[in-house]
Amino acid sequence: LEHYFSKIEEFKHLNAFNEVFFNSARSQAISVQHKIKNGSAGKLAGMVIGIKDNISYLDHEVTASSAMLQGYIAPYSATVIEKLIAEDAVIIGRLNCDEFAMGGSNETSFYGPVLNYADSTRVSGGSSGGSAVAVQAGMCLASLGTDTGGSVRQPAAFTGLVGFKPTYGRFSRFGVIAYASSFDQVGTFTKSVEDAAVLYDVLAGFDPKDSTSSSLPLKTIDSSNSPRKIGVIREMIESEALDKDIKTAILNKIETLKSLGHQVEWVSFDLLDYLVPTYYILTMAEASSNLNRYDGVRYGHRNNSAEDLNELYKLSRAEGFGEEVKRRILLGTFVLSAGYYDAYYQKAQKVRRLIVNKLDELFKEFDFLLTPVTPTPPFKLNELNKDPLVMYMEDIFTVLANLGGNPAISLPLGANVDKLPIGYQLLANKFDDEFLCTFAKQIQ
Ligand code: GLN
Repeated sequence: LEHYFSKIEEFKHLNAFNEVFFNSARSQAISVQHKIKNGSAGKLAGMVIGIKDNISYLDHEVTASSAMLQGYIAPYSATVIEKLIAEDAVIIGRLNCDEFAMGGSNETSFYGPVLNYADSTRVSGGSSGGSAVAVQAGMCLASLGTDTGGSVRQPAAFTGLVGFKPTYGRFSRFGVIAYASSFDQVGTFTKSVEDAAVLYDVLAGFDPKDSTSSSLPLKTIDSSNSPRKIGVIREMIESEALDKDIKTAILNKIETLKSLGHQVEWVSFDLLDYLVPTYYILTMAEASSNLNRYDGVRYGHRNNSAEDLNELYKLSRAEGFGEEVKRRILLGTFVLSAGYYDAYYQKAQKVRRLIVNKLDELFKEFDFLLTPVTPTPPFKLNELNKDPLVMYMEDIFTVLANLGGNPAISLPLGANVDKLPIGYQLLANKFDDEFLCTFAKQIQ
């Protein structure tokens, strides 16, 4: 733990941590040490973990990197935190992220951007940028993020890490600050697939406190090294948006997979152009509803000059939320409003169904789908954040798994000539998380 504290000090300029939990982490570490001595330590004893600053940890501040929640102290712990602690992991601090997890570069954070350790003129990716860089630079062993539309997998690809988003409903959302509830999932950042699997084992399972938690039993792992059938989504690999080096690295990986005996086939996914619009209509709609609760009365920031209740709501929200969050609340309210609901929200729900059906169909034929994670390597700070639409297009390869609720893993694929990390992605059928981890381990 002291080693990690010194690394956090050394890499302070990367801005990964919003707060280091010196006291609680030290006392946890002491109690774990006792347990190790008397032989009662849990599965994660010795694992020092950072958590994204949108996951509640009892008696600790949690802000979603927003001015709105400065000073807000969590009155309970998220189920995922309770599970980590029950297995004797040590929680070292809360990690920087885009405000309310809305963003793809960690540049919408109240605390400022997180810098990429591979090249500090470049972004960490987002929204879980702090969670990525904390592990990338060795400031903790693993971290939790949340992945609503790629926020674990994209920063993992930008930092050379393994980023795993489980099936929707596998990890509890209880105590996680909501962005878009039908998409949000907690995910993990680790240096190896083995560590991702160890964390999955601890975090997965039914939680009666989360109404969308799945009660399907966990699967026993098929660890045989049999040849698998992998579909490569043609429209993604051939997309004009895809960087040449990433494309070449993925094509090489496909050849390696074939040489290992796996059957790799190109498949068509004709709904590609609809992924980003459908994702943003639905997540903004859900966000506008979820963020209603920040009214200046019950949580966080409160304006103190308002003369009546309406003004209190207006001023508290105007002061508390940043620009990107406001944009999404406005657009989300618009697509849900009478007269536009059918044209946008309901239409997007129907397209989501088509996407889910298409994925279900593909997974009847294939064990896994292989795609890129990001169109480009980590981009420069301030390069894409001027135009929200350009930033949204960064999510073109990641939102598919969230629209479908499928498990997906981002795996490192070396670096380009500029030494910038590159990744690729595997998706599996819903509730095939164990199968996906096992396969990813075999081919790493
Ligand atoms: N970039 C996506 C967005 O801004 C992903 C966010 C996320 O997964 N939390 O919505």
